Amino acid sequence: MAAKGEGRAIGIDLGTTYSCVAAWKHDRIEIIPNDQGNRTTPSYVAFSGADRLIGDAAKNQVASNPVNTVFDAKRLIGRKFSDPMVQSDMICWPFKVIPVTDKPMIVVTYKGEEKQFTAEEISSMVLTKMKDIAEAYLGSTVTDAVVTVPAYFNDSQRQATKAAGSIAGLKVLRIVNEPTAAAIAYGSDKRVTSSVAKNVLIFDLGGGTFDVSVATIEADVTEVKAVTGDTHLGGQDMDNRMVDYLMKEFKSKTGKDISRNARAIRRLRSACERAKRVLSSAFETPIEIESLFEGIDLFSTITRAKFEELNMDLFIKCMDLVKTCLSDARMDKSSVDEVVMVGGSSRILKVQEMLKEIFNGKEVCKTINPDEAVAYGAAVLAAKLSGEGDDSVQNVVLLDVTPLSLGIQCDGDVMSVIIPRNTPIPTRKEKHNFATVVDNQTSVAFPVYEGERSKATENNLLGNFSLKGIPAAPRGVAKFKVCFNIDENGILNVSAEHMETGLMNKITITNDKDRLSSEEIERMIEDAEKYKLEDEEHMKKAEARYALEDYAYNSRDAIRSAAKVTAADRKKMEKAFRSFTKWQVSNKHAEVYEFKHKMEELEAVFNPIITNMNQE
Ligand code: ADP
Ligand code: MG
Repeated sequence: MAAKGEGRAIGIDLGTTYSCVAAWKHDRIEIIPNDQGNRTTPSYVAFSGADRLIGDAAKNQVASNPVNTVFDAKRLIGRKFSDPMVQSDMICWPFKVIPVTDKPMIVVTYKGEEKQFTAEEISSMVLTKMKDIAEAYLGSTVTDAVVTVPAYFNDSQRQATKAAGSIAGLKVLRIVNEPTAAAIAYGSDKRVTSSVAKNVLIFDLGGGTFDVSVATIEADVTEVKAVTGDTHLGGQDMDNRMVDYLMKEFKSKTGKDISRNARAIRRLRSACERAKRVLSSAFETPIEIESLFEGIDLFSTITRAKFEELNMDLFIKCMDLVKTCLSDARMDKSSVDEVVMVGGSSRILKVQEMLKEIFNGKEVCKTINPDEAVAYGAAVLAAKLSGEGDDSVQNVVLLDVTPLSLGIQCDGDVMSVIIPRNTPIPTRKEKHNFATVVDNQTSVAFPVYEGERSKATENNLLGNFSLKGIPAAPRGVAKFKVCFNIDENGILNVSAEHMETGLMNKITITNDKDRLSSEEIERMIEDAEKYKLEDEEHMKKAEARYALEDYAYNSRDAIRSAAKVTAADRKKMEKAFRSFTKWQVSNKHAEVYEFKHKMEELEAVFNPIITNMNQE
């Protein structure tokens, strides 16, 4: 079915480690496989002397090109360089990140030149890849998307994700919380069997983030009651624990410290990640890395018990957040009908066991695919918002909540909360009791914060605006009304009004200095198009090169093996072929016309010989 507009709409789960795309096709929501046939695509972008790679191709070459292979952009998006999270993550990254007015910039070498990219740009490249995957599968252009974010992403991270979509040339129909999307997927699955209200807890433990939400699903309506989580808790943290442990073991066995050898650590981390997956079904697994450091092999075994011990505090943190979410939703654990497991790390058996314990022995639900549920739910919303699909998606209703409290900093650094967290969105709230704090105050500032701390400056500053030109009056006489408005994307508008004069000012929390301005986004869109063109150019060159090589080698083989060829012709061919292979070595990155020209040259020699030898 065609969309209302000219292009199609898709749902994208833009993950820290893997991304997934889905859309309406064949009368249902389908998860779309990439060009390698995989249903999830690594969120990796690599730059090299000749080209840019995204997804599987980028991840596959990470060992040979670590400093120019970028991943984890989602850990950077919407954050400042000085953010302690960024500082601690950077230690593990082989690629370089530098501050430009406290915005983290990723530095790579591309085509021999140093280039800097924002996390938004890297994410936009992953989004472009997901868009391309969808276009190939759907056979039509894709213009719109619903993109998911962790429930606990703050306003700045949401804005930055939206910007990434714009840079990729996608109209972002909606930014939706990942566990909420998973709840919709679960609801779609269960709709046929149940029209009574069900309370579900979505437990989404991925590579980099952890999200929990509690929702009530009744027929087509998914009503989120509470969300919580940790934007820095996931499978990668567990890999790091294993790396630390094995690094220490290696040191005590061999006396060698590998902690400064990036390549050794990288190899160890990949081995740990693999071992971790095995431990979700086996009790123990060997970890063997040949010549890890100075020619010495690493031979070890890790048991499931050891893995659990190394990560127990992380698991406990997850369980604590589950309890917080239940209490935020004012729901007793006995009222939860289903605990739905989402995210690759939800396969960890200890995690499933601990959840079972919390829910009095109730088995967790594994009926939905943990890697695909988020994209599935996003696609349901994308289809609904763009008018694609049948009633099964058109009737879906989503009632989501805001993850963090929002308010104004008042005198004495107090956070005056206007919208408490877990308020259903969209929402609009007003508060009237703001007043001047000194005599004859003619200007009042309204710093907008998000967070749960009562001291405003401990929270996250979203933006600041002021009302000027207020008539002079004694303290407390001038009164103000402040209004907060959150749209369905969770994006905020704030306004303040002087009651007496109607003097008003407002702010959309978008262009704070850490966010991208519309000009910056414009520039990045242009860059994205430029890089896409370059990628296409590269493909054209590669195709011309392959065509030439195929022709040269096939003709040579045909002439060599033909019965009816004169010695002179054979010699002519061998000479031309030798000259071609010589040319080939120094012209790997030649232009399309050069390959074509070379082809013509060879054809002039080979074709007459081939015609002769094929004549009766
Ligand atoms: P994200 O949404 O953060 O990109 P995913 O939901 O794709 O993450 O999950 C990726 C994480 O899941 C990785 O850390 C990976 O190691 C982990 N993972 C995948 N399969 C398993 C498994 N069988 N057992 C344990 N962890 C797993
Ligand atoms: Mg995920």
